[in-house]
Amino acid sequence: MELFQDYLQPRAQEHDQQVHQWQTRTKEQVVDPSCSMCNMVRTKPKIDFWNFWRWYRMTTGAEIYTQNTIQVFYKKEITQELNSMEEITQKVVDLIETMRYHPRNGIEMKIEDLVRKVTLIMIQSDYFAEEVEDEELDEISNEDVISITSTISSIAQNEDGVEQSEEFIKFWEMLKETEPKLRSFNEDAVEVFEELIKMEEEEFQQLKESGEKQQEIVEKLRKLIHGLKFKGLRPAGRKLVGKIMELTIFSKKFSLTKEETKERIIWNAKKDEQDNTPNITPFERFWNWYGDFVHEAISYGKETEEIFARLTQLEFSETWKKDVDECFRKLIDSIVYDNENKDLQYEYIISEMKKRLGEIIIE
Ligand SMILES: [Zn+2]
Repeated sequence: MELFQDYLQPRAQEHDQQVHQWQTRTKEQVVDPSCSMCNMVRTKPKIDFWNFWRWYRMTTGAEIYTQNTIQVFYKKEITQELNSMEEITQKVVDLIETMRYHPRNGIEMKIEDLVRKVTLIMIQSDYFAEEVEDEELDEISNEDVISITSTISSIAQNEDGVEQSEEFIKFWEMLKETEPKLRSFNEDAVEVFEELIKMEEEEFQQLKESGEKQQEIVEKLRKLIHGLKFKGLRPAGRKLVGKIMELTIFSKKFSLTKEETKERIIWNAKKDEQDNTPNITPFERFWNWYGDFVHEAISYGKETEEIFARLTQLEFSETWKKDVDECFRKLIDSIVYDNENKDLQYEYIISEMKKRLGEIIIE
C-alpha cells in the first residue's frame, strides 16, 4: 500500500472527475480534502505557516496547499503527548492529505521518513516558529516502520475511518485474497455488510428466486459492491456477488476462522467437481457467458429462465425478427444489474447474443 499512488492520487482524480468535470451531484461523490476548488484558501496564515510550507514543499515536492492545510496546521495536534506510532501517523496523514503533489513524482520521500521528519521538526521547532533547515535523520527502527506502514494501509483502505467488526475484517481480508485489485471500502459497505450477516442463511439461498427477498438481497449486495473500490477496472458484478455469497455461507456468516472457511470452500469445490461437471444447462452456459460480457449483471430470476427457454424455441428468420428482438430485450431487462442508471447498449448486446446463442444451446 503506497499512500500517494494507492490512495491520495486515485481519490483526487476521482473527485476532480466526478465533482468538477462531470458535475454529478450525488451522495456517492468523493470528498477530497486536497481539492483547492472545494477548499479555497480563505484565511491569511502567519509566518509560522509560511516557514512550514517552504520547508514542506522543498522536502516533499508538494505543489498546492488548501484551507484545510492551514486549519490542520493551526490545530497543532502533533505533540509530545501522542503515545503510539499509530496516533502519530494518523495525525501526520491528516496534514499530508490536505495538499496536492506532482501527479507523476508524488511525495518525493519515503512515507516512514516523512512521518518521522514532520513529527520531530514540528515538536523541535515549536511548530515552525522559526525558519527550518532540512536535516538528515538517523535510521528509523524496524518496529516503527512496520507500525507506520500498517497504519497507512488501514487508513487507505478504510475511506471513512469507520469502526469495523471482527466479521467485517475477516470478510475484507478473505475477499482481498481472491480479489487482489480491491483497494478500499467506505461506510456504506460496512453498514450494509452488518445488515447482510444479520439475515438468515436460508434467505441467502433465495438470491436466485424472484420475489421480495431477492430484491432486498440484491439491493444490499449492490450497495455493498458499490462501497468497494478497486485499482483499475471493477471485476464483473456477478463474479463478485458469487464470491461474497460463497464467503458468507461457507464461513457461517464469518463466525468460522479464515482457515476453516477456506478448507470448507476447497472441500466443496472438489465435491462439486465430482458431482456435476457435465450437468451444466444451456441456461447456465448462457449466464456464464452473459456475466463476462455485461459486467454489471448481478443476478437473474425465474422470469429470466423462462424467457431464455422461450427464446430457444423461436425461429430466427427475417419474418420473426421483431418477435425475436422483443424477446431478447425482455431477457436483458429481466436481469438485475449493479448500477441503477445502467446504460445498456441493447442493439449491441442483442447482436452479440444472436451470434453466441447457437453455440450456447448446442454445446
Ligand atoms: Zn473539489
